[in-house]
Amino acid sequence: MKVYLNGDFVPKDEARVSVFDHGVLYGDGIFEGIRLYDGCVFKLDEHLERLELSAKAILLDLPMSREELAEAVCETCRQNGLSNGYIRLLVTRGVGHLGLSPRGCETPTVVIIAGDIQLYPKEYYEEGLKIITVPTRRISPAALPPMVKSLNYLNNILAKIEAQQVGFLEAIMLNDDGFVAECTGDNIFILFKDRLITTPTSSGALRGITRDVACNIASEMELATEMENLTRYDLWSAEECFLTGTAAEIIPVVEVDGRKVGNGKPGDVTKSFLKRFKSKVSVEGRKI
Ligand code: PMP
Repeated sequence: MKVYLNGDFVPKDEARVSVFDHGVLYGDGIFEGIRLYDGCVFKLDEHLERLELSAKAILLDLPMSREELAEAVCETCRQNGLSNGYIRLLVTRGVGHLGLSPRGCETPTVVIIAGDIQLYPKEYYEEGLKIITVPTRRISPAALPPMVKSLNYLNNILAKIEAQQVGFLEAIMLNDDGFVAECTGDNIFILFKDRLITTPTSSGALRGITRDVACNIASEMELATEMENLTRYDLWSAEECFLTGTAAEIIPVVEVDGRKVGNGKPGDVTKSFLKRFKSKVSVEGRKI
């Protein structure tokens, strides 16, 4: 595997960043997870736009233009002979001093890794996932806008561990007001009485790119999507539920906090979302 590191392609084992990089010292940086399907990078422009907005929000000047980043992403895929895979693009504040101040960080570090990801075992896409609410809360939007896809995922990791400790693969994270924010790396949708509802960014949800794809699928199916605060009770009462994310794609949820969703099997609407999603991925991407 060859990794893009600040303009060079280096073998995986030699792809190293400094211990003085503020991405390492403080998680000071941003990232994107992107998918490559059949030689096409899915929603590349949208991912790069979100990266630019994340950079702007944390006052980090990206050292490359959108087109340069797009080309670097495509070239990383080509260098690795990939036609399907998962791409991790990250930009850190760069190498600096030991203090918090980013003033000594002159050049951001840009890394692109193109590899594989299997977030959930295959059978869960057919049988559905059982998820559970965990104690660790999503970072308050007042502390850090949830739209910023930063390298600070510690509380999401804690939430994941809490779910795993009790035998679940995925966790529901609430916000400080007790409303559902999202899962540890996925947005959440429910279907209730012909309404498809997902949580708003104000509740702590990331503005997910797969979430937008799901909203487009919903409008193709003449189903209105609403962004609304959801309680755990809303999830327990849902007729259908699914998660969306670049790595997870669209995955059905069949149990929330020990309560069956619908009849405890992936719902028909969810199944058609999955089908429609698959038909979009390789035709709507940028050819590498
Ligand atoms: N929420 C969080 C916290 C995430 O990290 C992600 C991305 N893995 C998502 C939601 C889904 O976003 P996207 O569809 O853009 O991958």
